[in-house]
Amino acid sequence: MKKQKKYMPEMIIAVMLIGSFLLGGCSGTELTEADKNSSPITSGADAENRTDDSAAEGLPEGTDSRLELHFIDVGQGDATLISCDGYHMLIDAGNNDKGTAVWSYLKQQGVERLDYVIGTHPDADHIGGLDVVLYKFDCGTVIMPEVENDTRTYEDVVQVLEEKDYPVTCPVVGETYSLGEASFTVIAPNKDYGTDMNDSSVGILLEHGDNRFLLTGDAEEEAEADILANGIDISADVYKAGHHGSKTASTEEFLNAVNPEYAVISCGEGNSYGHPHAEVLNRFRSMGIDVFRTDEQGTIVAVSDGREITWNCTPSESWQAGEPMGSSAGQNTDNWKDGQQTEDSSKDGQDQSENVPGGNEAQEEASGSDTEITVYITKSGEKYHRADCSYLKSDVEKISLSEAKQRGYEPCKKCQPPIE
Ligand SMILES: [Zn+2]
Ligand SMILES: [Zn+2]
Repeated sequence: MKKQKKYMPEMIIAVMLIGSFLLGGCSGTELTEADKNSSPITSGADAENRTDDSAAEGLPEGTDSRLELHFIDVGQGDATLISCDGYHMLIDAGNNDKGTAVWSYLKQQGVERLDYVIGTHPDADHIGGLDVVLYKFDCGTVIMPEVENDTRTYEDVVQVLEEKDYPVTCPVVGETYSLGEASFTVIAPNKDYGTDMNDSSVGILLEHGDNRFLLTGDAEEEAEADILANGIDISADVYKAGHHGSKTASTEEFLNAVNPEYAVISCGEGNSYGHPHAEVLNRFRSMGIDVFRTDEQGTIVAVSDGREITWNCTPSESWQAGEPMGSSAGQNTDNWKDGQQTEDSSKDGQDQSENVPGGNEAQEEASGSDTEITVYITKSGEKYHRADCSYLKSDVEKISLSEAKQRGYEPCKKCQPPIE
C-alpha cells in the first residue's frame, strides 16, 4: 500500500486541457463575476468522469468546477501549484536549484500564466526557485510578506520583480481572492515577527465548494497561536503540514482547530533536519489523519470537485519519522530555536558522527553545539559547503551557517549543506 504511485492519466489530460483555455489580460487582482463566468471550465475528461449525482452540493447549481493542488516534489522545500478552472497560482518554488524543475512541471501542466504567486517567506527552500518562475511566466498578483532576507537568494527574487515590474502585494489577514470558482483568504502573518522568517510566512485558507485547504508555509508555534487568536475559522479537510512536518509547528491546539482529514508533508528524503518529526506524525496518527508525503510518494495531487477530494496515490502508511542521513551536518537545526532536543535525533546525531565513513568535521561541530552549524567556504567561491564536498579545494574557511547566509553565500548544489 505505501509508496504507491497511481497517477491517473485522465487527470493529466484534463489539466492540459484546462491549461489551454487560459485567459489573457487578467489583472491578477480579484476576478470579477464576469471573468469567472466567462472562464471555460469543462474538459472532455472531466465531463466524462462526472456522474449525475455529482450535481455539486458545494458549488452553485450547474457549476462544473475542478480544483487541483499539486504538492510538487522539490526535495527539501515547498512548491505548490493550485489550479482552478483555467486559473493558476503557485505557492513557493523550492530551493535555488529547483526553479527550472518547477517551471517545467508547470509547463507540463499547461500553465502559461500565473494569476497569483505567493512567496510564503524569504527562506531559500521556498523562494530559491522563485526567480526562475517569476522570470519565465507572466505573473499576476505577487504576494510576499514584509520581511527581507539578507541573502543573494532573496536579492535574486527582488531583482526579477524589479526587472519585470511586478509590484509586491503585502498579505493582509482576512483579504479574500478568487481563483475560478475557488477562493482563498489570507490568514497569516498576523503581526511583525521581526527577522523570524518562518513565523512571517503567508498562510492561506483555500475554499472550493465544501472543501477547505489550509497552507501555512513554515509558520511555527507562535505564528500558529496568532492564527488561532485572529478568530478565522481554519477548520480544513486538507492541512499542508507547517514547516515540513517539524515539531516546531503543528501544535496540538492548532491541529485541533484545523481538524483535518488529510495532511500533506512536503520534505526531502533523508533531509538533514529529520523532517517530518516523530512528534508530529504521532499527533496526526492519533487524530486519525491520513498522511501524504513527498519524500516517499513524489509529487502529490489532490483534486476537488467542490464536494469530494480524490488523490493521485494512497496515503503513506510508514509513519516513519525523517532520519537525518549520514553526511548531514545540520540535523538538529530546529533545536536552535526551542533549545530542546528530541531523544531520537540527539541519539542519531551521536551515532552518525561516529559512523560516517571518513568522519565529518561539520557533523562533529554540529553535535558539539546546539546553537551553531558549521559550513565551509573558499576565498573565491560564492557557495558554502559541507566539510566533505568535493568542490572544496584549498583555502577552505570554516564559518557558521548564519554567518555564511549573512555574507550572501548560497548553498552548494552538489553537497547540499543545511539551509536553515
Ligand atoms: Zn522551509
Ligand atoms: Zn523557512
